[in-house]
Amino acid sequence: MFLPPPQSPRTPDPILGLPIDVDGIRFRLQHLSKKLAPRDHRIHVCFHDVNPQAEGVEIRIGGGNHHYFAGQWTCGNVWVCPVCADRKGRLNQSLINKAYGWAEQKQYHRLLLTLTAGFEGWTRLEQRRKDFRAAKTLLTRCKSWKELAKHLKGSITKTDVPFSRAWGWLPHEHISLFINAESLDEAVQLVHAVKLDWVKCLKKCNLMWFGASAKVTMSDQDAAKYFTKDSDVINNHGGQSLQPFDVLRRAGCAGAGYDWARQAWSEFVNDIKDLRQLRFSNDLKKDCGIIEENEENQEDEEHHMYRIAGTIDRATWTQISRRNKEVNGALFGAILRNCKELGFNYIWEWLYNEHSILPPLRN
Ligand SMILES: [Zn+2]
Repeated sequence: MFLPPPQSPRTPDPILGLPIDVDGIRFRLQHLSKKLAPRDHRIHVCFHDVNPQAEGVEIRIGGGNHHYFAGQWTCGNVWVCPVCADRKGRLNQSLINKAYGWAEQKQYHRLLLTLTAGFEGWTRLEQRRKDFRAAKTLLTRCKSWKELAKHLKGSITKTDVPFSRAWGWLPHEHISLFINAESLDEAVQLVHAVKLDWVKCLKKCNLMWFGASAKVTMSDQDAAKYFTKDSDVINNHGGQSLQPFDVLRRAGCAGAGYDWARQAWSEFVNDIKDLRQLRFSNDLKKDCGIIEENEENQEDEEHHMYRIAGTIDRATWTQISRRNKEVNGALFGAILRNCKELGFNYIWEWLYNEHSILPPLRN
C-alpha cells in the first residue's frame, strides 16, 4: 500500500528557502555545486554511477541512526562537494579523536596553534595560498620551530578558508601540536616562541596587515571546535566571515544581489585545487594505531558495524540519479529520509508513484 510521505514540519532554510533537512540540504547543495562547477570538474562523477565493483547502492544504517549510501562513485572533494565533506568529516573526526586519545594517554601536552595572515587588497585565493606557504616555509626555518620540533611527537594541520566580503578568501591554519615536555609551562613557552617568530615571518613576507596573528589555545574543546566547523553546512555561520559552503548557498540565490557570491565561489573552485584540508604529520597515524585502508572500509569500521537497510540495483540507480538531476538534487536526500522514517520497502512504491521510476521485478 502506498502512503504519501509524512508531512513533518520543517523550517525553511533562510538563504535558499528550502526545507532544512540534514540529509537533503547536502544533496541540494551538491547539485548546486555541480551546476556552478566547470564541465570537467570531478564533482560531476559524484553519486552519478555505481562503482563497478559493487552489486548496487546500499543504504546503510550506521551509528546514531545515520543513514547513508554506499557503493556509488564519490568525488572526495571536501572543499567543493558538501556530501563528500560530510563523509570525510565523519571519518576525520574519528581519526582526530584517536590521535587525541593517544596523545593524552602518552601524557603529551596538546596545544593548538592558529596561524593567520593579513592580505592587502583583493588578491586572488591562489596568490594568497602561495604567500601563506612562503611565510610558513620561513617559519619552519626559524630556531623556535626547530626547537619545538625536537619535542614534537606529532601534529595535525587543518587549513581553513573562510570568506569575508571585506577581505576576500582568507586561508589560515590550525595546528594541533602533541608536545613531549616536562611541564605544560615548558610546552607553552616553546609554542609561544614560534608565535613571536610567525609575526616576524609575516613582516618579511609583507603579510602583516589586519587579521594577521598567531594564537595559542590550550583546551581540547577549543581544538575540536576549530576542527569540525566547516563540515557543518546546516548552521548558517553568520558574523564577519562565511565558510565556503555558506558562500555556495548564497551563490545559489537568484538576483544580482548575490553576484558577489557567484564570483567568489567560482574563484574558490578554481583556486582551491589540490589543497589538503587535513594533514597528519609523518608517522602520526602509525604511532596511534590508525590503519590506512580503503576509506570505505575504514569508515564502516569507525562506525562500528552498520546494518544494510536495502540495496538499490544498478539499473534503478541510473534512473534515480538522472531523476535527481531533474529535481535539483532533492531525490537522494528524500530517499534517505523516507528510508529512515518509513523503511526501505516503502521506497520502491514511493519512487514508482511519485517519480515514475520502475523498480526491478522482485521475487
Ligand atoms: Zn562528492
